[in-house]
Amino acid sequence: MSPRRRYIGRRVTTTRLPTAFKRFRRLRRSEALRRLVAETRLDSRDFVYPLFVTHGRGVRAEIASMPGQYQLSIDQLAAEARELRELNVPAVLLFGLPASKDPLGSEAYASDGIVQDAVRALKDADPELCVITDVCLCEYTDHGHCGIVTGAGQVDNDATLELLARTAVSQAEAGADMVAPSDMMDGHTAALRAALDASGLESTPIMAYAAKYASAFYGPFRVAAESAPAFGDRRGYQMDPPNAREALREIEAEIEEGADIVMVKPALAYLDVLSQARQRFDAPLAAYNVSGEYAMVKAAAQNGWLDGEQVTLEVLTAIKRSGADIIITYFAKEAARMLRDSR
Ligand SMILES: [Zn+2]
Repeated sequence: MSPRRRYIGRRVTTTRLPTAFKRFRRLRRSEALRRLVAETRLDSRDFVYPLFVTHGRGVRAEIASMPGQYQLSIDQLAAEARELRELNVPAVLLFGLPASKDPLGSEAYASDGIVQDAVRALKDADPELCVITDVCLCEYTDHGHCGIVTGAGQVDNDATLELLARTAVSQAEAGADMVAPSDMMDGHTAALRAALDASGLESTPIMAYAAKYASAFYGPFRVAAESAPAFGDRRGYQMDPPNAREALREIEAEIEEGADIVMVKPALAYLDVLSQARQRFDAPLAAYNVSGEYAMVKAAAQNGWLDGEQVTLEVLTAIKRSGADIIITYFAKEAARMLRDSR
């Protein structure tokens, strides 16, 4: 307690100001001050924009549960690449809708598959755009599971690895800058690394969906990618939401198998996992701000229940603050626009 002289009128009084509290509000008084001391800064260069690519020409079909997101035909991709460049968004993550589906998801690893063609179109349009490809079979199989289904209705882990590896190699051969296995088969990163290396693609990095939970937040995506399982669910291979320590073991294993980047998916309901992963591992960390997280914000904003723009930036800031280096988000373009316009 330090005495201080204070003049009130002509009287001189001595008051005792408590020093036991701190004045945090000093640094909140103006926008300039707040920005100076901000601990987390969103940057459009952290964003990866997911794209759904489909066969046909002139297709730009809006996804009902994801307003502002589209299934696009390949001829639409050059414009997309141009817009992303203008907005300083450096990367896309490609998902494909095949012409037809079969039990083994053969279009996933066809050299003229939808994603392979899309990679070539995007790299033609902008060689500097980082084109990342999703490696999984669920969009391509008629049963909608992420791998080969056995007679007993189970997904056969080890038999699936070979098809995933073929998929990754064909995508990288088409020019993909990075492959991202999302299937949650055990050993997938090791299988992809070995196959890529054996094909002379040792420079192609792997972003592994390491901690991918069996989440109901994927609902809108399954409509967008037409990949809902025809029977059962994915709880037999994706992670169980109550488990966080297991996520750290998954991430550790993926890094040991050769993952260059590891991912936590979804983001918002798993920020604790993201934060623990950040503290434990030094590898670059990605978070997938998934379709359901996008749809919730959009739906509430459309109803006038919250300020969609403010919530978008708050959500993305929280994901970055929790430890993500890379944010895969359907908000990439609009958030980049907001960040640009706020400068
Ligand atoms: Zn899948």
